[in-house]
Amino acid sequence: MDSRIDLRSCTVEELESLSVRLGDKKFRGKQMFTWIHKGIDDIDSMENLSKRFKNELEKVSYIKNMDILKVLESKLDGTRKYLLALNDGNIIESVLMKYKHGNSICISTQVGCKMGCSFCASTIGGVERNLSSGEILGQILTIQKDIGERVSNVVLMGSGEPLDNYEEVLKFLGIINHPLGLNIGMRNITLSTCGIASKLLELAKQKMQITLAISLHAPNDELRNKIMPINKVYNIEKLLDTCKKYIKITNRRVTFEYSLIRGFNDKVEHAIELSEKLKGMLCHVNLIPLNEVEERSLVGSTRETAYEFQKILKKNGIDATIRRELGSDIDAACGQLRKSYIEKMKK
Ligand code: SAH
Repeated sequence: MDSRIDLRSCTVEELESLSVRLGDKKFRGKQMFTWIHKGIDDIDSMENLSKRFKNELEKVSYIKNMDILKVLESKLDGTRKYLLALNDGNIIESVLMKYKHGNSICISTQVGCKMGCSFCASTIGGVERNLSSGEILGQILTIQKDIGERVSNVVLMGSGEPLDNYEEVLKFLGIINHPLGLNIGMRNITLSTCGIASKLLELAKQKMQITLAISLHAPNDELRNKIMPINKVYNIEKLLDTCKKYIKITNRRVTFEYSLIRGFNDKVEHAIELSEKLKGMLCHVNLIPLNEVEERSLVGSTRETAYEFQKILKKNGIDATIRRELGSDIDAACGQLRKSYIEKMKK
């Protein structure tokens, strides 16, 4: 593992002190930051820096794109799923989705995940480690370079639990939002969490304009306990109470994600119970028919059931949409590709 500093992990201020430490002017920090976020993948490409300074820089730091191990492209909608190698040999996945309004990228925040949700492939092998802010950002820069186009929307919905890697995720958000960097507006960023309530309150205090998505997936504790272990730490009441505080502090509408699992959480009574729980909240429900994962015995609900569920929510005053399924022909659910790749390598 390279022990030098990954320049993509650095804020402008950190680059400024690095420049001074290496004997150059503070403003070099801003120049470096601009280059890094233009997507260069080696130090030598920073044209307005002196050879001497770049030599010093190379001794203590590096810039590198991740190796692309594999890309799967959906024939249905052009969604591209990437398998990327980190410097230490770990593998992560990221997904590029093409919309009329621009390119959106779904990125990972950890190698694997420890949250143990019973329907999710990312969590099967547990968590290996957190990603650094530079590695979270690196997914965007590597993929932008690969497609030769800008990414305008970012969703933290790949493998991992963002609030279980809070510091690095927060640093990453500051870096991509910076006007000298990718300058991605907070409103174009969605952070999805299984609901670590204590961290949610900390996040609220940042008063960022990001969209917060909460993986709810059940209308009561009895069902949620069965599929999401985090519910035993922060139950639905605690979670919704925290969401209300979050909304009050940030004044932002929260999205609740609800994966429909056939015969489990998709009945009329569940839709009614969910409507009652969410009544009066500034929120929106995103219904997602479960993406089936081979190792899990759970089955997704039909499109018809999803429409029925949505109808009941709407009738009860809860705004709800059914998520368009992208990349359904390329295993686009969290962690599926990474898992099958690792298994093949072991054989
Ligand atoms: N740990 C975070 C973000 C990663 S998962 C979270 O829990 O929100 C991103 C979203 O995909 C979550 O809502 C998660 O519950 C959902 N998800 C995971 N596996 C899925 C599957 N097989 N089918 C449908 N949704 C899934």
